[in-house]
Amino acid sequence: MDISHLHNLFLASSGISTDTRKIKENSIFFALKGEKFNANDFAEDALQKGAAFAVVDETRRNKNEKFIKVEDALKALQQLAAYHRRYLDIPILALTGSNGKTTTKELINAVLSKKFRTVATSGNLNNHIGVPLTLLSMTRDTEMGIVEMGANHQQEISFLCGIAEPDYGYITNFGKAHLEGFGSVEGVIKGKKELYTHLKEREKLLFLNLNDPLQKMEENYMHTFTFGTNCGADVELELCSRDSFAGIKVNGKEITGNLTGAYNSINMAAAYTIATRFKVPEDQISKALEEYLPRNNRSQIILKDNRKIIMDAYNANPSSMAAALENLNNMDLAPKIAILGDMFELGLVAREEHEQVIKNIEESTISKAFVIGANFSTTATSSEKVKKFATFEEFQKWFQPSEFNAGIILIKGSRGMALERVLELI
Ligand code: ATP
Ligand code: MG
Repeated sequence: MDISHLHNLFLASSGISTDTRKIKENSIFFALKGEKFNANDFAEDALQKGAAFAVVDETRRNKNEKFIKVEDALKALQQLAAYHRRYLDIPILALTGSNGKTTTKELINAVLSKKFRTVATSGNLNNHIGVPLTLLSMTRDTEMGIVEMGANHQQEISFLCGIAEPDYGYITNFGKAHLEGFGSVEGVIKGKKELYTHLKEREKLLFLNLNDPLQKMEENYMHTFTFGTNCGADVELELCSRDSFAGIKVNGKEITGNLTGAYNSINMAAAYTIATRFKVPEDQISKALEEYLPRNNRSQIILKDNRKIIMDAYNANPSSMAAALENLNNMDLAPKIAILGDMFELGLVAREEHEQVIKNIEESTISKAFVIGANFSTTATSSEKVKKFATFEEFQKWFQPSEFNAGIILIKGSRGMALERVLELI
């Protein structure tokens, strides 16, 4: 089917559905194939539940006139999104980076939505399916689109940029994440910088943190808007914190948010800078940054009984783990306790990176650490301060409340470790 025709059907529909458990009335259902499912099997069901059409790439038993047969349903979704993006004709800001994309995206959305009708990636829908769905959730009424792009291998950002055609871009940072797919930190840098390449080819604007040497390298490109401390940036600011909450200081005024961790000051600085470029009034920017509340176990501070808990169980990789431990190390509360879960997707460097975490703890002011998972428990490094558990269940069985009844407790691990479960124990 020709994409412009599909686009007309899309405009007349209520949007896209991909999950038969959540079919929107009058939507277009795309039969995507996952690891476990082939949604072609559910296309009939989707129509029965109210979808207007079902885009399928296999015609089965009952042919239905509401089936739209294509070569590849995923490709059709991506092509439709690319077509829709051009039809939209609105500015789009793309964000990528190793850590802090979702947090920064939400902060940017918070500040820009004070002035514009924005649509931003919902949650973490940042891949080859999520980016198309994000674009297809925008309408001509949208004044600004904010798109998070994730990648775990080369050419992925380039591919997503081809669909989203961003006008503005920001890379949060270049760190040790998804090393399995990228091979090395150099691989990560190359993969993320595909965003810059795409923007430069089309003479679009880069937002740069000049205190990051890898971003500073791009300073000579003609379309940039920059921030940093003592570096002659367009927006000069300082990173600061108050009572363990991250903040920034601009024009002599401190803005403190509700996120913990020095790295969140950088995320706030980026949001502040982007809002400044789009002329959101200064008081509105501060208000948005101060009001933003973190969700989903990302850099959240929870007060429980007489303890402060840093809930950061959403995810972990070597860079974000190091940043979180550094943050804990700098806290002026005692005792400082870390409950850490394995970091996934590290491939060959998994052992070394987990050992490094234990070394960092040994050299820090952290009082005690409890590390959980197959990677941590098999490390060769040991420390008096660190107690190892092979599984969460083992930790649960051992659990001694008296170890956790005071001070500050950091909880962090990869998503699969689901360490938010710790909160029910302590
Ligand atoms: P994902 O790859 O899962 O989409 P993400 O890049 O969207 O992750 P967030 O979900 O915003 O990142 O944050 C995940 C964790 O990364 C945070 O809880 C925090 O520990 C850490 N983090 C956030 N910002 C930074 C940063 N600028 N530098 C280092 N670590 C950070
Ligand atoms: Mg994310």
